[in-house]
Amino acid sequence: MTNSTPRKPLSMQRGAWGSAAWITPECCRIRLKNPLGSLLINTMVYRTKDGISIIDPGWPWTLDALEQSLIDLEIITQSIKEVAHFIYTHTHIDHMGAAALLSWRTEATHHFLNELLPMSGDWHAFQDQMGDWDDWMLSLLAGEHREKIREELKHRKRRKTMTKAYGSMSINPKHIKTFQAQDSIQIDSQLSLNVLPARGHDPYHVVFLEPQHNTLISGDVFLAVPTPITGVMGDDLGMYEETLSRLSKLKPDILLPGHGSQLIGEQNVQQHMQRAQNYVDHYRTVVQQHLERHTEPQDLWSIGMETRPDDHILSNHLRWWTHLGLIQARLVLMLKREQIECIDDGDGPHYRLR
Ligand SMILES: [Zn+2]
Repeated sequence: MTNSTPRKPLSMQRGAWGSAAWITPECCRIRLKNPLGSLLINTMVYRTKDGISIIDPGWPWTLDALEQSLIDLEIITQSIKEVAHFIYTHTHIDHMGAAALLSWRTEATHHFLNELLPMSGDWHAFQDQMGDWDDWMLSLLAGEHREKIREELKHRKRRKTMTKAYGSMSINPKHIKTFQAQDSIQIDSQLSLNVLPARGHDPYHVVFLEPQHNTLISGDVFLAVPTPITGVMGDDLGMYEETLSRLSKLKPDILLPGHGSQLIGEQNVQQHMQRAQNYVDHYRTVVQQHLERHTEPQDLWSIGMETRPDDHILSNHLRWWTHLGLIQARLVLMLKREQIECIDDGDGPHYRLR
């Protein structure tokens, strides 16, 4: 397919569950409403003559909506048990949170990175551990900001954990099939996927290239907003930069990101990939410039305040911490490259150029 290929507009379908678009005759992108927040995730469904495969089925609390959407779209007739395969780009709760529940509810095979096998034995505990940012937040901050957040955390309503909500649960070992990054996997006779390593946003992140339509299913590598890269999720900015440069050379015709709109046509895909690179470049520049402007060692909160993209960022907790996480990921990389030094005299970390 080239950019000049005329394309029919995507056929969209809506329901109480959300919206769906057929990207190719076999591939449907479903976006389910999220009753617990504003974040929406793209679930990719492949329908071949052999059966149904789903990439990133989403949160536990959107499973009923997923089933209803599949019925309304006439992909299944009555139950999610008709799905043969679930395949995962990465471990985050919005992509893989429902894996354990699904593995006991249906007979489908669950395909994921082999390195996740040790965690699959108590999947909900692993999800809870990944979702607990409290100690990480405190470890990053200094002085009055650390004390302020410490107080806030004390009085905050306790998070409802996966273990509390759904109990301890393994991913049923009977239904697991692992792959390695770099494998080519044959899901059924019609659907093959090339697994490509894509570290940075999650240490267990892979992407899938579906060769027949040159489609890249990219999880959270390329988003319309800066991709969160935070130490608390075990992520690494240096690896993310390598991932960006490696994947942008693939020149896919279709990009299906984990959040936001699909990109169709090589040029649109390249622009979207470049945008992710621009965010990385932006953070590199603003952090560098901030440290050049200030000779006194700087704490993360101050760098965050001076480099925030708009005045409303503090009103959205997750966006603010993503912003701080991206700055901190840059600082960690600069420390590793010995461009800056970290001073901590008991008051929390401060940074200055070397
Ligand atoms: Zn993610």
